[in-house]
Amino acid sequence: MRLATVDDDLCNSKLCGIPCVTFCPVNRIGSKTVWIGENGKSRINETTCIGCGICVHKCPYGAISIINLADYWSKKLIHRYGENAFALYGLPEVKVGFVNGIIGRNGAGKSTSMKILSGQLKPNFGGNQVDLTDFFKGSELKPYFGNLASGKIRVSVKSQIIGDSTEEGGTAETVEALLSDLDEKERKYADFLISDLQLRDLLQRRLDQLSGGELQMITLVKALSREADVYLIDEPSSYLDVFQRLTAAKKIRERVGNGKSSVVVEHDLIVLDYLSDYVSIVYGTPGVFGMASKSYGTRNGINNFLRGYLPEENTKLREGSIDFFDVGLEKEDVGKVVFGWAPMKKTLGNFQLSTEEGEAKEGSVIALLGRNGTGKTTFVKMLAGLVEPDQGVVPTSGLRLSYKPQMLKPINKTVAEAMEEVKDSMREEFYKTEVIDSLGIERLWARNISSLSGGELQKVAVALCLGRAADVYLIDEPSAFLDVEERLRIGKAIKRMISSRRATAFLVDHDLLLLTSTADSMIIFKGESGKNGLAKRPAKVLDGVNSFLKEVGITMRRDPETGRPRVNKEGSILDRQQKASGAFFMAVTRGDQVES
Ligand code: ADP
Ligand code: ADP
Ligand code: MG
Repeated sequence: MRLATVDDDLCNSKLCGIPCVTFCPVNRIGSKTVWIGENGKSRINETTCIGCGICVHKCPYGAISIINLADYWSKKLIHRYGENAFALYGLPEVKVGFVNGIIGRNGAGKSTSMKILSGQLKPNFGGNQVDLTDFFKGSELKPYFGNLASGKIRVSVKSQIIGDSTEEGGTAETVEALLSDLDEKERKYADFLISDLQLRDLLQRRLDQLSGGELQMITLVKALSREADVYLIDEPSSYLDVFQRLTAAKKIRERVGNGKSSVVVEHDLIVLDYLSDYVSIVYGTPGVFGMASKSYGTRNGINNFLRGYLPEENTKLREGSIDFFDVGLEKEDVGKVVFGWAPMKKTLGNFQLSTEEGEAKEGSVIALLGRNGTGKTTFVKMLAGLVEPDQGVVPTSGLRLSYKPQMLKPINKTVAEAMEEVKDSMREEFYKTEVIDSLGIERLWARNISSLSGGELQKVAVALCLGRAADVYLIDEPSAFLDVEERLRIGKAIKRMISSRRATAFLVDHDLLLLTSTADSMIIFKGESGKNGLAKRPAKVLDGVNSFLKEVGITMRRDPETGRPRVNKEGSILDRQQKASGAFFMAVTRGDQVES
């Protein structure tokens, strides 16, 4: 079975001279296989296409994909957005009474799956006449869709995009107004969450004045407060700090059970692991097709994902497997001091930041970890020379700096034009392999930066940042909008580039797996969000994470097969043992026997 897709945003038949049409060998023998459709975009007949791939290679914009799939897949097609458009095969299962986690590449159909599960999107089965309940005969999804249609299942949705005025909540201006359509019982639950999560101060605030993290929490509170049987939550941890992520996860878990279920899409692997009872992996080619794996138990599902192989599906996800046994290990080749800093102070409005002293060494990555609003960005801006300290001096003067800000501004340039700035690095084999190829930047080359998705923009911004020749790299929240795979790739790219450039990097992020697997040392930020912050001196990764976890009252063990950190259940034997011994974050090396 052949799947031919055309990315209509990339296809530009007015400029390219339509090589896809002229060079198609089937066209040449007189059978209409590739042509320009009414919308001016290339169209491909999947039945007559022989899969030679000539059009794929001839298209200057990389708009065409031709993929061969096993024939039985055609029976699994559940939705197609249009002719030669993205195709979704199958759906993740919903195990009743459990949290069903979903991991997967961006653009592989996770949000589409969520929309089908919520009833928001009526699947078209690629134009075939099929009934949803027939389609899922023999699966748990058959009763699911039966009950959804008859109104026996009520769903509550937290979409991926928050704060969109077209979403539920409509034109509400304040948090209070947003919550006003909850009924009495729901409002009671919302009030319980609001108190528990210490969000009461936000009730009178205008929605457009909330920070991303605040808006995420409020949107989640509303979705969880609804009386429903299934809670469909798309990417809850975006904009949240580690502490908020784990609290949000806990609140989702508390809502599930006694017949209530949840489906959660999440890219923070530690959060997903903590949240889920089952995990399904949505794999495929971003923008082309997606397929949902069966439901695996959480530990197996995540380990299979990291190993890059799904046994039940007999499917390889990538070359090579990923593990985390070297997390927290001391690097031997960390070199001389690049710069040091004396204590600094800065007041911004009602917020006060103090820092302890510290040093940054050649070839090392320093992670910055702490709650939202404790001054991480302010600290990085002081190092970047963009914010003048009130006490102390900018310690990086005279050094070459490269800064990736937290908020990215899309500019009206192509990726190729923007990358001109780092053309010297583009000639380095190492940079090309470790950054450009690893992050898939070449594929975006002809695109306008203002048309990129959040994740694509992030990858270009990181590639630019790492492409500049500098002594100090300042990288603020690179994991935002990225999928798990991309996060791990970015971490590796940062690590390798810093090492090869003999430079030093400061990395702010809230994804603990990315942070711990990338960093050589860690600065912990203490303090009260929005009021004051204290940047501690750099500590060893294990000590840093340990003190952070101690403050938030969470312990983590390590998975024996992959070395990845896992959050212990509160009150479990391990949790109590680790709290008693003070080892909130457990160290392991490969081969250690760690209880799972
Ligand atoms: P994910 O949530 O896994 O990132 P989505 O389900 O949002 O992925 O999207 C999967 C693919 O479907 C994307 O490549 C996107 O281009 C395509 N797509 C999403 N919505 C539409 C739509 N309304 N029309 C056409 N294509 C769409
Ligand atoms: P973090 O990066 O840890 O989330 P930030 O450094 O961005 O924290 O911000 C810390 C606090 O300082 C926040 O409460 C923020 O609102 C406040 N702040 C940042 N910049 C300014 C400014 N220019 N004027 C007033 N307050 C500011
Ligand atoms: Mg999505």
